[in-house]
Amino acid sequence: MPALDPRLEEQIRDHLSQRIDPQTYRHWLANAPLEHALDGTIDVGVPNQFACDYFEKSFRVAIEEAVNISLGMPRRIQFVVRPDAVYAAGQSASEPEPQLPPPVPPAAVVVRVPEPRQNLVLNPDYTFDQFVVGPSNRLAHAAAIAVSEAPGKAYNPLFIHGSVGLGKTHLLQAVCHALRARSPNLSLNYLPCEEFVNEYIASLKEQKIEQFRTRYRSVDVLLVDDIHFLANKTSSQEEFFHMFNALKNASKQLVFSSDAPPGDIPTLSDRLISRFQWGLVVRLDKPVFETRVSIVRQKALQRGVTFPDDVLEFVALHVDTNIRDIESATLKIIATSMVDRRPIDLDLAKRVLQDQASVPIGRLTIADIQNIVSRHFGVKLSDLQSRKRNRSISQPRQVAAYLVRTMLGTSLEEIGAYFGGKDHTTILYSVRKVAERCEQDFQFKAVVDRLASELRREQQR
Ligand code: ADP
Ligand code: MG
Repeated sequence: MPALDPRLEEQIRDHLSQRIDPQTYRHWLANAPLEHALDGTIDVGVPNQFACDYFEKSFRVAIEEAVNISLGMPRRIQFVVRPDAVYAAGQSASEPEPQLPPPVPPAAVVVRVPEPRQNLVLNPDYTFDQFVVGPSNRLAHAAAIAVSEAPGKAYNPLFIHGSVGLGKTHLLQAVCHALRARSPNLSLNYLPCEEFVNEYIASLKEQKIEQFRTRYRSVDVLLVDDIHFLANKTSSQEEFFHMFNALKNASKQLVFSSDAPPGDIPTLSDRLISRFQWGLVVRLDKPVFETRVSIVRQKALQRGVTFPDDVLEFVALHVDTNIRDIESATLKIIATSMVDRRPIDLDLAKRVLQDQASVPIGRLTIADIQNIVSRHFGVKLSDLQSRKRNRSISQPRQVAAYLVRTMLGTSLEEIGAYFGGKDHTTILYSVRKVAERCEQDFQFKAVVDRLASELRREQQR
């Protein structure tokens, strides 16, 4: 087992010596070996089982805190019996000092409190950098940034709610990443509410509630995910309430997420509801079309893949439930293109999304698009479907072909058949032409966008 880095060890011992009265520190901790297991756990050597229990009861919290402060992050601490270790100077290791307060005998229970999460396990992708901002999440994003810049001062608590897959966990963890980078000395705890409830129940069973409380109350920033888990759990709510007060009174930052606003969490006590509303309550909504496009683009780029614009729009149009679904559709397209060795294009996207689209592909028909275009430009439907080449007709026809292609993913050949039997290269030319003109001509783009959004509205009906 490797020894700890000496500087780190010195820091840890330093913190401990300040927290614990000198005599006790000298006797029990000054020489206790600290080792570093491969999985990141820190092992504290103790002379015998009796000492092991004593350490657990008396020093765990202090050691955790010292480690957290020295490393900038929590670690799992474990007490291991090392009878051979040089323990307290001049004293036999196996005889604990008699005048020390007699430790409470270890409770004769077999259930162990599940090891609290000492290592903050964060998803490395859940950072602010990788969070796409749009009207549906702008406020929540701004609030999360503010909290990470001034914890305990900006909004306290910050309460983020929204339905599944809209970025609650991503934002909470982004706050942790940002805080870690900014203020490595702050102690953070991020955990799902379920873990809080489970630990609470276990610590009651094992009569370790004081340790449980100390542990939760000794952090600078506490982020609890999916707080709606407190619904129908009266005694956990009670415990949570007291923890909230302790941390809030000490100006520690609290951040919560939930699938519903405070007042809508079933059976949540009024006093918790009102506490949750003390700071800022923000909602995450479903992303709008433009944000969905950016999300598909970003999720693909994250995997080193660039989607053509029509594919971006196709995915954004047909998956409108939540960001998790958009992400999984994007990944499925990438995977299929790799497996089938085919380029990422509309045909592929259409095939992949056939049974994944939340907006059924094909509900909107080519006829719908032709109708709306003919109405808008005041050309006859029969002209649009003809081979006539005068500009007043060919331009609306190009727009219609473009919309069919981007919104329905119909093959070029098929589109040709609907527009006077043109061949696929002509249709390809039309689609490109419209896309190019959209880039150059702002007013023209506005027209095309308006038609598309009108169609989308129709499609969602
Ligand atoms: P929730 O906790 O609300 O259910 P998550 O935070 O787990 O949702 O988000 C689901 C997935 O969507 C995650 O992979 C997350 O990275 C991604 N995601 C959510 N919001 C965004 C966003 N605004 N930009 C980029 N990715 C996002
Ligand atoms: Mg979540």
